Order: sequence, then C-alpha cells, then structure tokens
Amino acid sequence: MTLTPLQDLAQSLVNCERCKLAKLGRSQVVFGVGNPHASIMFVGEAPGLNEDQKGEPFVGAAGKILNDLLASAGLSRDHIYIANVIKCRPPNNRDPEQDEVETCKPFLLQQIQLIRPKLVCTLGNWATQTLLERKVGITKVKAQAFYMKDFVLFPLLHPAAALHQGNLLPTLKEDFKKLKEFLDRHSKPVEPTSTTSTPAAPVLNIESPQPAQMDLFG
Ligand code: URA
Repeated sequence: MTLTPLQDLAQSLVNCERCKLAKLGRSQVVFGVGNPHASIMFVGEAPGLNEDQKGEPFVGAAGKILNDLLASAGLSRDHIYIANVIKCRPPNNRDPEQDEVETCKPFLLQQIQLIRPKLVCTLGNWATQTLLERKVGITKVKAQAFYMKDFVLFPLLHPAAALHQGNLLPTLKEDFKKLKEFLDRHSKPVEPTSTTSTPAAPVLNIESPQPAQMDLFG
C-alpha cells in the first residue's frame, strides 16, 4: 500500500530518537490526527499522559474542553487536523526545552506544508511563539489574525489554562466566538452534499495577506 506524504512523515518518526525525550519515559510518538485535507489546523504544546498512552493529541481533560470550544465555533474534530509542537511527552508534563522544540519544529512545519491549512490556531504560548518566531505573550496576541506567508495564524489560550484557572474559561469562550466570527467572514458557503445532518467542514477563502500586521510586535 502506498503511503501519502503525511503518512510517510508519520512513519518516519515512529521510532524517533532525535532528542532526549525518546529516553525520558515517552511510550510513543504522538504525531497528530484529523483530516489531512483540513483547512483549519490546531497546534498545541506537547502530549500529556493520556495523549502519550493513546497516541493522539488532546484526548485528556484539556481535550474535552477543546471539543466543547470547537463545537461552540461550529467545528468538530473531523473538520480539523490537530498536532503539537513537540511529539513526545516531556517527563511529568514539564515545559518543553529549547533543544526539544528546535528538534521537533521542522516536523511541525512539514505537517503544515503537507496539510496546507489556510488557518492555523495555536493553543498557548509555546505553539504561538514557535510559529510566530517571536517571544510574545499569548495574552497580547490572542484571538487576532496574523497573516503569515502560507497561512493565517490565530493564537488562542491553551485549553489547559482553564483547567488550572477556571476564571479563564469565559475568556477562552469569548476568543472562540471571535474565531467563529473570523470563520464566518472567510468561509465560502458549502453545498449540502449528503443527507447526513453533520455540518460540512468550512471551506475557507482567506485573501489579501496583510504583512503590515506584523508591526504589532514593534
Ligand atoms: N496539551 C497539549 O498541548 N497537547 C496535547 O495533546 C494535550 C494537552
């Protein structure tokens, strides 16, 4: 059976030992899941315990919050592709270290290149700073569209933030409302194709990149 380039990339990482996380207790590489043709991709930080065991991103408590937030924006996991900046669980869920991010980032970039999403929603500081290539706080940039060379970046707070600080949940909900507004402004109407009641994935039509927005960072 021939593999797609994305499956090929996943396969090439199954036994990855490029960084020290390979020897620090990970049970498997968590590559990413979802629609390989998605026009919207979500990027988190790193697998936690549940993700390490199941081999899929966002299947634990933060994943439940994410599913609810996605639904509030009219999205489901079938519509999107989801991956993390680093593909192996750091011990005790510690923050990723710089060398780990640097080692794994090229694979995230390859995933993006192969999936070709129009919109990439980064969840939290790590994913946002990695893709913006700037050390900027998530609270300063969240829920805004940044026009990158190949996609629009839409940073959001990490859903786990609401687990640790319940008072952040309303902010997350508000930010997903802004995401929905962005999607509504940039979606082409989808022709109903079947009798199922499942809403189709949005077809995004994002034009006129505005690189001047990067001036926001001074
Ligand atoms: N947090 C993340 O950043 N990614 C996951 O996959 C799970 C929790």
